[in-house]
Amino acid sequence: MSRPANSEANRSIPSNFRQLRACLLCSLVKNYEQFRRDGCDNCEDIVQMRNNSDRIADCTSSSFDGFIASMKPTGSWVSKFKKIDNFVPGIYAVGVNGHIPDWLEYELKRNGIPYVSRDGTLNPNSSLEDEEEE
Ligand SMILES: [Zn+2]
Repeated sequence: MSRPANSEANRSIPSNFRQLRACLLCSLVKNYEQFRRDGCDNCEDIVQMRNNSDRIADCTSSSFDGFIASMKPTGSWVSKFKKIDNFVPGIYAVGVNGHIPDWLEYELKRNGIPYVSRDGTLNPNSSLEDEEEE
């Protein structure tokens, strides 16, 4: 935790809008080059995308819908609704099309991390299952 909050935020925000990809695990949106250089700011421990183009291809998707700009994820109702309230500030996709690879699902289970599918909201088939009551 030695990095100042500002540089942390800049790192996780897309530096341009070309080649944008969304992480299948946390729906963070960055461009390909940023994923390659920094990995995913939320999931890097697990997915290890840094300098690994195969992993980036596996664990991110260029097909996603909508943006949520989350500057203060903790406490925002949007982030809570999207289950991103524990993540770094940044741009998040509303829905990401795709599924994490099998090995990653296994890895998550092994580490006791619940996988929250990111493609639920805009998928009419899953609206009943995903409905949450509070
Ligand atoms: Zn991620």
